[in-house]
Amino acid sequence: MADAQRCQLRVTGTVQGVGFRPFVYRRAVALGLVGFVRNDSAGVLVEVEGPPASVEELGRVLREEPPPLALVSSVTATPLAPIGTYESFVIVESAEEGPPAVPVSVDTATCADCLAEVDDPADRRYGYPFTNCTNCGPRYTIVVSVPYDRPATTMAGFKMCPDCQREYEDPANRRFHAQPNACGVCGPQLSWCNPAGDLLVRGPGALEEAAVSLLSGRIVAVKGIGGFHLAVDAGNPEAVLELRRRKSRDDKPFAVMVPDLETARRLCRLDAGAEEALTSVRRPVVLGPKAVPTTVADSVARGLPELGIFLPYTPLHHLLLERVARPLVMTSGNLSDDPIAYTDEDAFARLGPLVDGVLTHDRPIHIRCDDSVLKAAGGSTQMLRRSRGYAPEPMALPRPALRQVLAVGAELKNTVTVAKDSWMVASHHIGDLEHLATYQSFCQAVDHLCKLFGVTPEVVVHDLHPEYLSTKMALDLDLPTWGIQHHHAHIASCLADHGRTDQVLGLAFDGLGYGTDGVLWGGEFLVADLESCRRVGHLKTCPQPGGAAPIHEPWRMAVAWSLLSLGADAALRLGSGLDPRAPLVVGLAESKAVQKTTSMGRLFDAAAALLGVRSRVSYEGQAAVELEALARTVPPGGAPPYPVDRAWEGGKLVLDPRPLITALVEGNERGTPVEQLAASFHEGLARGTVEVAVELARANSLPTVALSGGVFQNGRFSDLVSQGLVAHGLEVLVHRTVPPNDGGISLGQAAIASVSQHPPQMSD
Ligand SMILES: [Zn+2]
Ligand SMILES: [Zn+2]
Repeated sequence: MADAQRCQLRVTGTVQGVGFRPFVYRRAVALGLVGFVRNDSAGVLVEVEGPPASVEELGRVLREEPPPLALVSSVTATPLAPIGTYESFVIVESAEEGPPAVPVSVDTATCADCLAEVDDPADRRYGYPFTNCTNCGPRYTIVVSVPYDRPATTMAGFKMCPDCQREYEDPANRRFHAQPNACGVCGPQLSWCNPAGDLLVRGPGALEEAAVSLLSGRIVAVKGIGGFHLAVDAGNPEAVLELRRRKSRDDKPFAVMVPDLETARRLCRLDAGAEEALTSVRRPVVLGPKAVPTTVADSVARGLPELGIFLPYTPLHHLLLERVARPLVMTSGNLSDDPIAYTDEDAFARLGPLVDGVLTHDRPIHIRCDDSVLKAAGGSTQMLRRSRGYAPEPMALPRPALRQVLAVGAELKNTVTVAKDSWMVASHHIGDLEHLATYQSFCQAVDHLCKLFGVTPEVVVHDLHPEYLSTKMALDLDLPTWGIQHHHAHIASCLADHGRTDQVLGLAFDGLGYGTDGVLWGGEFLVADLESCRRVGHLKTCPQPGGAAPIHEPWRMAVAWSLLSLGADAALRLGSGLDPRAPLVVGLAESKAVQKTTSMGRLFDAAAALLGVRSRVSYEGQAAVELEALARTVPPGGAPPYPVDRAWEGGKLVLDPRPLITALVEGNERGTPVEQLAASFHEGLARGTVEVAVELARANSLPTVALSGGVFQNGRFSDLVSQGLVAHGLEVLVHRTVPPNDGGISLGQAAIASVSQHPPQMSD
């Protein structure tokens, strides 16, 4: 080969465990190239020699037409002197050199090719529930360490049969180097057990037993990809109520798995964006507007306009849904808000008392990973919980990291994030750190992420709240720490979501975050970028009587806001209609020592309680969710916006909702329908928010406003604020792939600590 060219191609990104090497092999051979491809700690390394046009074409293919699950960050070509000694093109085993820096792929829904085999009576994988290939199957949840090879996964204990081994070794086969490759002869098997853990049926018969049990209204634990689900017939009201009773879950809605897209369309009114998310290989739960009438029991998502639905994502799900041929509630396998069970031992101990049977299998899950949740949002989607199918996909940092970072997030909806080089990786959803079991899961996630991605943290980032378990854990690590204010982290997470580093006016509206002045913040207007943050405005400060109690008892905030707006007599009168302890709480709210808050979440709570929508909640945000549901029955603009004041106080612009609260109470006493009042509350608060934001954006010469915090999960409020700001010529950043709630805090913390020279101080 006189004019042969030799070249090294370095490929980075999510390129392991996604069929990259066999893909390179097939293309290189087809192009008449010789050389090798291998995985290493930096990604995939290719060396080829052959005709210059072929070498160039291979580089183009790797950049522009990589295999479907790969996410190529870069392809760097380095010319080398031809050596002429390669005889063919080969796949070389992984080299273990240096720290592992290669992202591990996400867990991916069963591909069409695998499903066709599972459905084909003539195929050797007919009906086999663990069928997978290089284009699909479990990844993150089975990988124990890197490089990603079978011995480093929970499939290590299964020896491939000769047929599977042949596929695994054949570069032309779809299962070439598919690490979880398995069949009914050599791979994992199903078991049907009673709640005590006694094996009743092993093998395919286990599936039939589970299906029969579900069809007769029983509750079944089903082991999936990242943990156990609790399953029950979604169309059986008694069965759904029984699940609520056993799980100690009063009102929080359940997600429903449907056999196919047709069924999904019958249950929800889906737009193109929602359908795209629903059918994607990531297979999240998608919240869409409920169709009426519905075949799903009312108690699945009572009183809510939306239903969370998802499609099967493992062959086991497909086979089970085929058997029962109806929607199934598939909710996290836990009691109340504990972490989801993912080992058989844990499942029998914790879920045994909740279920009538357990459908499990012998492929271990290495790390738990809950389902992700997205919300349909006017043609696109917004992430509410970023977990299975998304974790641990790296996100690009807007600028290269100055240091390796571990960010430990907040207390509720906790995630952790690691960052180095030019990317950051957020963990799966860990949950509320109030529970000891969740805290153990948090420690495991920190270890796992640092190991998989070869991160040695130089800085640990935490929230300013001294009582958060995550803060205490960070301070215990014996590493330099940065404390980042909660709402700065929110705005940074929104900036990172858009790859932005410019200064914006940030609106961080949520339930609570530790402020720098002893007040619980949550209605904040911030001038912020990734390196600095200044508080320029906030919601009027209000008493939060009873410490943390108002979080579960919105009526207390109704008392506090009516005290501020209408005086003590009115507060006593209105409060007494909600709870007999009202006189005590009025006294508390009037005392000097009372906890103060600027929380928007608590203001929504107050409005919901004043309108008689809800005085006590059984899950975070419930009162606001139900208030929004009422408001949405009125078309936008269909109710007059109630007035909101604004005033400068101590150099900050304060949004004062007292006239709005007064109007709400008067309207209620006049007998205005509650839907109208809820709509007027949304319209008025949004208009007041826009007026404050426009004034502050102009005063600080900022063309862009970023919206973050759990309050912006309220679609009606978020849309009204966005449209108002855009009408004033401002650019608006809303969350897309990073959750606006506290699930995004660790990403915001990591982005700040990666690119800032010094720990940013919140200037007040
Ligand atoms: Zn497949
Ligand atoms: Zn086999």
